[in-house]
Amino acid sequence: MLQDNVFQKIIDRQVPASIVYEDDRCLAFRDLNPQAPVHVLIIPRKVIPTHADLTEADRDLLGHLHLVAARLAEQLGVGDGYRLVLNCKERAGQTVPHLHFHLLGGRDLHWPPG
Ligand code: AMP
Repeated sequence: MLQDNVFQKIIDRQVPASIVYEDDRCLAFRDLNPQAPVHVLIIPRKVIPTHADLTEADRDLLGHLHLVAARLAEQLGVGDGYRLVLNCKERAGQTVPHLHFHLLGGRDLHWPPG
């Protein structure tokens, strides 16, 4: 089930997080329940509940999130191979209603995912 938007609380500093990067448009922080040695969530400051809610106005923001992900992968030492995951809606495993990329790396990642 989609829960409260805890990521907005992280943006507002009402909930603590291990923040590894932030700028005027996005934030990246360590996942509370890591699935790989490196597991970081990259979120826009703008609330976009799901991937399906993206609009033309978000085109540049999305590109920015990808560039941040690629830079972070290098900085966090997983430039040799990483995975970006975005779960859209409950059926795909989304639990927090705030668009986010999972950046995973630091171990061999298999395909297909579960
Ligand atoms: P998803 O299932 O794609 O919506 O991903 C949500 C992710 O947020 C999960 O991997 C959770 O472990 C993570 N998560 C939930 N609450 C927090 C939190 N307070 N700090 C860091 N990560 C969190």
